Amino acid sequence: MDSNVGLKSSNIIEFVLPTPFLVGPVNVYLVKSEALTLVDAGPKTEEAWESFTMQLKETGYSPNDIEQIVVTHHHPDHVGLLDRFPNSRIIGHKNNEKWLIRDNAFLQYVILYFEQFYQENGLPQRLIEKIKRQLQLYMNFSCQRELDIIVKEGDCIDGLYGWNVVEVPGHAQSQIMLFNPSDKSAIAGDHLIQAISSNALLEAPDKGSDRPKPLLQYRKALQKLLDLETNIVYPGHGTPIKQAHELVTTRLKQQEKRAMGIYELLGGKEKTAFEIVQELFPQKYEKQADLTFSEVIGHLDLLEEENKVMKSVKDSIVFYRKSNE
Ligand SMILES: [Zn+2]
Repeated sequence: MDSNVGLKSSNIIEFVLPTPFLVGPVNVYLVKSEALTLVDAGPKTEEAWESFTMQLKETGYSPNDIEQIVVTHHHPDHVGLLDRFPNSRIIGHKNNEKWLIRDNAFLQYVILYFEQFYQENGLPQRLIEKIKRQLQLYMNFSCQRELDIIVKEGDCIDGLYGWNVVEVPGHAQSQIMLFNPSDKSAIAGDHLIQAISSNALLEAPDKGSDRPKPLLQYRKALQKLLDLETNIVYPGHGTPIKQAHELVTTRLKQQEKRAMGIYELLGGKEKTAFEIVQELFPQKYEKQADLTFSEVIGHLDLLEEENKVMKSVKDSIVFYRKSNE
């Protein structure tokens, strides 16, 4: 086997690891800088660990050589294997922390927050229970680690000379991208993926704050990618992206089109978000209730922001309607 398989440039090596999730395999990147750095770590499964150690061995390194791991965001397919690196520094945005340490009180708060939010938006209890079970199963593939170093917009990372942190919330509240201005490359996690549109996922707000509007955040964060000149974007899933600007423009247009589709679906009626989910994703909503719901709420947030739709609450249920009807 060609040991250069996956070699992307002189100092970035891509490993593709299996995941048990619908999204398919995940990419992690070994960056040979002053410190041997891994970007993301894969899900906590034996298969992913075996695959990782085999691919790492081909590069001449072993897991103990990895001095630090930057996490692009907190999702289990990117952080689960952190537990296997007890001696590496873990680096990421502060919004990873509550997920990474698996604080029970936080997880209970998230579950309660969504239970109420879903009820208000018309989801039947049966689907709410299913989403709760799925979240708990999903967390089994995550890690239990603390961040050693917290990074924010504009930071440089020790041992990773030339790379800057860019905050790109939307897909996750913890999502960052690493950008290297000298060769115009970016390691973007799930901020941009070639073959599929990255979901802007709902997350519970910090206690006492308003709910984040992930699609609005995501669109702003995509704009950051338009403002940067990139030669190549290394994503968390799928192939490297050479024409990032073109793809970002396509994604922004797709979102506008979907928002208008939802606007049309409203017709002259008032509908709950769940009614729209059922109409828009008749085949998918049972299996992917959380994803389809995030998609619809995100686009309703966008329509609301543009003053195209209005919300009203009746008997604790939220209804949307066109602003001009
Ligand atoms: Zn993700």
